Amino acid sequence: MIYLDNASTTKVDETLKDIFDKYYFEDYFNPSSVYRPSVKIKREIENSRNIIANCLNVNSKTIFFTSCATESNNWAIWGKVSNKNTAEYVFTSVEHPSVFNIAKQLEQQEKIVHFCPINENGTVDENKLLNLINENTVLVSIMHVNNETGAINDIENIVKKIKEKNNNVFIHVDGVQAFLKLNVDLQKLNVDAYSISGHKVHAPKGIGVLYLKNPQKQKQLLFGGGQENNSRSGTENVASIIALGKIVEKESQNISKNYDNVENLKANMVDFFNKNLTDFVINANGSPYILNISIKGIKAEVLLHMLSDMEIYISAGSACSSKKKISRVLENMNVKKEYIEGSLRISFSTTNTLDEINTASKIIVEQIKKLREKMIWIKWF
Ligand code: PLP
Repeated sequence: MIYLDNASTTKVDETLKDIFDKYYFEDYFNPSSVYRPSVKIKREIENSRNIIANCLNVNSKTIFFTSCATESNNWAIWGKVSNKNTAEYVFTSVEHPSVFNIAKQLEQQEKIVHFCPINENGTVDENKLLNLINENTVLVSIMHVNNETGAINDIENIVKKIKEKNNNVFIHVDGVQAFLKLNVDLQKLNVDAYSISGHKVHAPKGIGVLYLKNPQKQKQLLFGGGQENNSRSGTENVASIIALGKIVEKESQNISKNYDNVENLKANMVDFFNKNLTDFVINANGSPYILNISIKGIKAEVLLHMLSDMEIYISAGSACSSKKKISRVLENMNVKKEYIEGSLRISFSTTNTLDEINTASKIIVEQIKKLREKMIWIKWF
């Protein structure tokens, strides 16, 4: 099998096996209990929080564990929804469904919601974004790296400009596809909230993080036993919290090395496509972890099934929005009609090898050619 759908999820790092054995089968105590092993576990959780805070260059009191980035996004945004009917909310038109569908929900509640367009390279149109900011703007939510195209927004610069216009705007950034892939310094970015997901970075599914610059000002989403400094109740997902801490400890040292490695993998694939494939376009040129291409005259869905039969796993658009046939993100980038249905997202991890990339590139091109021939036959008969 060749797995090239790492923006969807990643293989859990094998070095974490011991952690699961330990915290599921031996030290399975509730961290809120008062006996010694529980206290020790509580300390391990705090250690994990410190590691993540260090990686992001913020205080550990601003880091909260959640069940996933979808929860982090919901908490960040719903926590800022105001009762005032003059309050305005700004989103980009290409946010992940876990943000975009909140915006749609706010619209249904007759809130004033603006969707900011993007440029043809997939990044947010900064001038249009700034034009949407006024004294009534309560929240802006903008992703760091787009999950379908890899387009990277210049968050530091955007935040600076928004705050110059209205210093009270709460700026939330979905950092799921950026965390541990780019160097992220949250003090420098100066955002108010930042969401992270464990399963995109070789930690398990079911663990997320929300950074909140001013947690005391954020409304709660989950009420209960008062865990997470009384901000997000629910018994902690001990093994996954500790596992995420271990991954961050290990990989935060390797961000640049991994970036170069993955950039090389992507460059090899692009080079092969350039030499062996006609009539395709590359959508956006951002994160090396994501390659999004649109191929003229094929249906991505059919190609994905052909590749899946050969145990090559890639995606059309993002897995989270796979029910929709045409990508909202690519539509917003004005990808041409003859190309858009043949759009593929190939997403890399540093665990992929150059051999895998070479094999997959060859097979993808062969299958596209086969599919194109079939389409010609279908047109004839
Ligand atoms: N935001 C982005 C940009 C994503 O890519 C994803 C997952 O695909 C999410 C949010 C949701 O993450 P989770 O699966 O942890 O809820």
